[in-house]
Amino acid sequence: MNDPARRRADAMNAAEENFAGARLWAATRAPYLTSALFALTALIHEDAPPRPSADEHWNVHLNPEATAAAPVPELGWWLLHHVSHLLRDHHARARPYAPHVGEPPPDSAHTDVERWVRAADAEVNDDLDDAPADAISPETLGLPDGLLAERYAALLDLIDPPPHLRPCARPPFTGPAATTELERELLARAVAADIQARGTAPGGWQRWAQSALHPEVNWRARLARLVRRGLSRAAGRVDYSYSRPSRRSAAAPSIVLPALIRPLPRVTVLVDTSGSIGRTALDQALSELDGVLRAAGSRWAEVICCDTRAYPAQRVRSAAHVELVGGGGTDLRPGFTAAQATGADLLVVLTDGDTPWPDRRPRPYVVVCLFGDDHDAPGWASTVRLFEDGHDAPDRAGTVRQP
Ligand SMILES: [Zn+2]
Repeated sequence: MNDPARRRADAMNAAEENFAGARLWAATRAPYLTSALFALTALIHEDAPPRPSADEHWNVHLNPEATAAAPVPELGWWLLHHVSHLLRDHHARARPYAPHVGEPPPDSAHTDVERWVRAADAEVNDDLDDAPADAISPETLGLPDGLLAERYAALLDLIDPPPHLRPCARPPFTGPAATTELERELLARAVAADIQARGTAPGGWQRWAQSALHPEVNWRARLARLVRRGLSRAAGRVDYSYSRPSRRSAAAPSIVLPALIRPLPRVTVLVDTSGSIGRTALDQALSELDGVLRAAGSRWAEVICCDTRAYPAQRVRSAAHVELVGGGGTDLRPGFTAAQATGADLLVVLTDGDTPWPDRRPRPYVVVCLFGDDHDAPGWASTVRLFEDGHDAPDRAGTVRQP
């Protein structure tokens, strides 16, 4: 008897077998990812897209027919691809690019998510050979390699990716959590330790292992926390406003309706461009800040570059649009004056701290991002120390001071 149920069962079996073979193939290709590959759970079901996809609980969604028919190396490549997303925590890192819960989605929400998905593929495929012809990588995008997805996301805001490139498939639903968050974290640390011990993995994996093994130097999380706190304190000082038109006023154009929403706090970023800070470090800090501000619902910031004088404020909607000007000596005080003139509620300062500071606490809430550990910021500022990726100083990077 060759009824549909029987054919389905055959496809399921063949898919399962092919998955097992592909996983072994992948483990041979990248031995340092073996334990991660074997932590995957295969969910074989009809709703899965033709190409493998994975959810945040480490379930790989496999289409029975397509998986049964796929060559083992092709299937194995996709397993490596998705394990890379999972280990690098791309699902959590996507959150700043997703629409905010409980808010009407901004017009850009859809494109932001698409941009993130492409950026995450660029980070992952950078370290994977033999990608499919339509895969997104720094090379196929014409962008520099070795960057993090957050940076690719900022760069993708400036270019149109070639239309034939396709990001990886997304699963139709999130499967059951077979492991706890702690187990997944321990798995990531074990993989990272293995990568460091072998020393043969591609550069992107080495850098990832370094940061995974030193979560205490995660200045990104601290920066995000301080900026969020700054925004909420600033929001508490801002009045309700009639300045924004209500959504309803479009439907009733002759009536002026008050907009009963709080305006977002005004964010100004003061960048020390005196020349003592590396361009890479500033870029990294700016793109990180980009993600943090997006996550907080802020869609633009004024940026003021300052060496010994403050340059005209740039109003940007992404870190990639910031033009870094300056290069002289350092005195950030004119920058503080200019920032207060923009009406900033929250002022984020990027500096190595080798500058005279204002004598008094400025009106805005101030978060100082200090590069390196040679200098300190005044007591009225919240401070986070930033270290360039790959040059983290574990004992000092966690230093955060609140006023
Ligand atoms: Zn992908």
